[in-house]
Amino acid sequence: MRFLFGGSCFLCRGAARGVLCADCDAELPRLAQPLCPRCALASPGGALCGRCLAEPPHYDATVAALAYEFPADVLIHALKFRGELALAPFLGSLLPKERLEADVVMAMPLSSERLRERGFNQAVEIARALGRPLDLGLCTKTRSTPAQTDLPWSERRRNVRGAFACGRSLAGAAVAVVDDVMTTGATLDEIAKTLKAAGAARVTNWVVARTFPPA
Ligand SMILES: [Zn+2]
Ligand SMILES: [Zn+2]
Repeated sequence: MRFLFGGSCFLCRGAARGVLCADCDAELPRLAQPLCPRCALASPGGALCGRCLAEPPHYDATVAALAYEFPADVLIHALKFRGELALAPFLGSLLPKERLEADVVMAMPLSSERLRERGFNQAVEIARALGRPLDLGLCTKTRSTPAQTDLPWSERRRNVRGAFACGRSLAGAAVAVVDDVMTTGATLDEIAKTLKAAGAARVTNWVVARTFPPA
């Protein structure tokens, strides 16, 4: 890291031992407030939230490290759109290791078109940083979908419907899906649905950042 970033903070260019200087690291919007264990949105006392009770998603739990706010958004943008791959291990390291339990770990797949265009999958790069075996061929994205960020929240679910395929039976397995950002959760919900249909007993999202809906 030091070699890659020349000993200066990625955000402020001040002196840093790692990716960020101590001040910028302290600014990271780490999630500390009580969150719904299933969707990782704010929930009093950390209880299952009303939304998950009323309309349970296909995933069972979400582990998120940061709120998708400044400067987490800057770091994720730099990784994803400027190819700053050296940020991936840092972002992955922010996930709380003690909460990462799964039989099978995979990364959110990109369609082959998107992968060709970008040259890498940021979720795979983050997943590699977790230091455990990855099953990267488990699921594929079978068609290219418009970027979720280009769509209103209400259309995101339909946009990804039926977009994933799972290559083998997962009978009884606890599966973790690594991704960079969870926004509406529609894509993660769709992949969890696919994994459950393949027999997964439990699906957990491991995401670097969680977007909180506008109040
Ligand atoms: Zn700094
Ligand atoms: Zn919830």
